[in-house]
Amino acid sequence: MKEIEGQLWIENIPVINLAREYGSPIFIYSAEQIKRNFGKYQSEVGRNDLICYAVKANSNLHILKLLSELGSGFDVVSGNELKRCLKAGADKNKIVFSGVAKSNEEIKLAVENEILSINIESYGEFQRIAKISEQLNKSVNCALRVNPDIAIGSHKYIETGSKTSKFGLDSEAVNKISDEARDNKLVNIASVACHIGSQISDENLILKSLDVICEIADNLSLNGHAIKFLDIGGGLGIQYKDEKEGDPGILMAGVKNRLEGKEYKIILEPGRSIIGSAGILVTRIEYIKNAGGKKFAIIDAGMNDLIRPSLYEAWHEVKELENREISSDTYDLAGPVCETGDILAKGRNLKILPNDFVAFMDVGAYGSVMSSNYNSRLKPMELLVTGDEIEVIRRKETFEDLIALES
Ligand code: PLP
Repeated sequence: MKEIEGQLWIENIPVINLAREYGSPIFIYSAEQIKRNFGKYQSEVGRNDLICYAVKANSNLHILKLLSELGSGFDVVSGNELKRCLKAGADKNKIVFSGVAKSNEEIKLAVENEILSINIESYGEFQRIAKISEQLNKSVNCALRVNPDIAIGSHKYIETGSKTSKFGLDSEAVNKISDEARDNKLVNIASVACHIGSQISDENLILKSLDVICEIADNLSLNGHAIKFLDIGGGLGIQYKDEKEGDPGILMAGVKNRLEGKEYKIILEPGRSIIGSAGILVTRIEYIKNAGGKKFAIIDAGMNDLIRPSLYEAWHEVKELENREISSDTYDLAGPVCETGDILAKGRNLKILPNDFVAFMDVGAYGSVMSSNYNSRLKPMELLVTGDEIEVIRRKETFEDLIALES
């Protein structure tokens, strides 16, 4: 994304042209930015380490295909995310499966497809995996996802590694699984995993979690398990406003330092830092209205399209697509959904008139994937731009799509 003479461009195309041609609201992604973000990890990891993009951040098939072609593996959290990866041509041997509630069907799918690792999150899940691998008479590689009890100080909804969170195993469960898995011929404990949360600026927090899982891995090795991987999750943050961006270079330098003399390979599960800055949401100003001494810009995108501001009080920069020769004013940008919380941005200084377009920046991660049909609104179209090429990677929904399952 760049600005040229007051116009916002995505790669070689003025965004206003796309808004006029394809309509709004619309998600638009830059392939170049995705490649750049992925490259920052790729240039830092060792030859045997693996980058497993967290599919939950944005699961569009075309984006998965692009990442797969760049050499990425994938971190999935449902059977359907796994199926998406397989459809996008992913290497099965680079897929890890996280999540606290894997069903029998999902575990079966993972075992049958011989993915790299099922990341176990409870003793009950271990028992299920053992049973299913026995029924299928197939071996399965697993990780123990542990809870390292590290608080990261971001929004409470995106903290996952503190003691009371639902994710990961405590030490008692680790020991129990370790003992039982040693006697199991089909379930191999091959890695230790953790993920402490999202939007982390301080790489040291992730390094602290590495220390915890490294010690556990050493103990598991002593207990007879052949531990190959340490999976340190995702979580590096991006700059939405004035936050410090997490740096894969600093993270991997710290990792190398700590693992000096050890044979473990590293798995990373970045989501936000790969796709976040590559996407924008373009929306049109429907009306401008005054209420209670405030100015509202009523836009055609709502919390159903981009829920982060309502759910996490997340801040996204808003940019005009063109510089207008009018005076600016301060607006709250409110969507069409019948909820008081449907405000996507507050107190923004903008030069806008009805029918102008604006772009919400950095919405590539946890944007379109979290959209819904609330208020019977149709999910937006998605475009992928590569240079001056435009690809429709998700068509706009229709009313018929909306009611298709209700006949
Ligand atoms: N791995 C796991 C297990 C996760 O739960 C998440 C996100 O919640 C990620 C990776 C990706 O995190 P991020 O998008 O912050 O990199």
